[in-house]
Amino acid sequence: SEQSDPDAPVRATDNDAALARLSASQKKYFSDPYISALVPRAHLQKPRPPLINVGTYLRGTAVDELVDSWIERAGVHGRVQIVSLGAGSDTRFWRLAAGPRAEKIEKYIELDFPEVTSRKAMAVRKSKVLSPALGPADSVSVGDGGTSLRSAVYNLLPVDLRKTPGTSIAPLLATESGALLSPNLPTLLLFECVLAYMTPAASDALIRWFADYTQSGSSPLGSIVYEMFGLGDSFGRVMLNNLKERNVSLPGVGPYPNIASLPERFRRLNFTEAHALTLKDIRRDHVDADELERLSTLELLDEVEELDLVLGHYAITWGALVPESISADRKDW
Ligand code: SAM
Repeated sequence: SEQSDPDAPVRATDNDAALARLSASQKKYFSDPYISALVPRAHLQKPRPPLINVGTYLRGTAVDELVDSWIERAGVHGRVQIVSLGAGSDTRFWRLAAGPRAEKIEKYIELDFPEVTSRKAMAVRKSKVLSPALGPADSVSVGDGGTSLRSAVYNLLPVDLRKTPGTSIAPLLATESGALLSPNLPTLLLFECVLAYMTPAASDALIRWFADYTQSGSSPLGSIVYEMFGLGDSFGRVMLNNLKERNVSLPGVGPYPNIASLPERFRRLNFTEAHALTLKDIRRDHVDADELERLSTLELLDEVEELDLVLGHYAITWGALVPESISADRKDW
């Protein structure tokens, strides 16, 4: 029950994210052939409201573009590694594996609570749509009581991200056949809808641990964060109260009151680049007119006034920590 397990409502947020992705793909905002394999009784799920579909489309496509451009930049001379923290039912690995940059990916690692990873490991193994991307069946192993799934590229591992990374993540990444994550390859961290659930101190410790690891091999670290912010205003308080009613603890909401403050997270950790945009900015300035036209035909958006208010409280923050040895001789950083 929620009383005995305060993290249950936090894990349950993954259902919302997955249902939103399913809904937006069924409504043709984007194509995702993988999500229905990860949602139980997908065909019986009701569509989410247009506002949720639009938000899901905007963050999904914006993060896709940032990931693609990072792979292009960091992967010019070789392969890259991607780590998705609090990955939940995300389908990005399968979408990348079917796309033009698949061979650029050396490792794709997903981390989440064991209850979430065991459900996903089972769904992935069972699914004829998801399992082929992992390689031959005899190269895929499920371990740690069903909570982990390891394959050549894709690795799904159980961890509580609030714990000290040196004693929680580090042992997971050390395997008999060597380190799962190389300190010598460019590495990208994805935090989509996850930092709200941990304290700023815990999220800083996580990013710092990966920064130290990649710095030890003089390789670049990229990081993309998608989150709510600026919840101190009246509309933000309404959003926050909705979440509190569901007993979701949100220790990571609050330290970034406005868009200008969001890149501070990375600057404080000595990142060499840091940027942030709200979903409202992205919709206004970064979606082509043709695409906006296409979106307007998908369904009637009857919450137009609410739309900008909500989109103005979600942001994507991205940054990179590029060692001087690389940035000095490569202009593309
Ligand atoms: N990143 C996915 C997405 O954007 O669709 C899932 C987002 S879901 C809202 C948040 C996820 O973070 C859940 O799967 C939850 O279990 C995970 N999570 C939250 N706190 C965590 C923690 N301390 N350790 C591991 N996973 C955590």
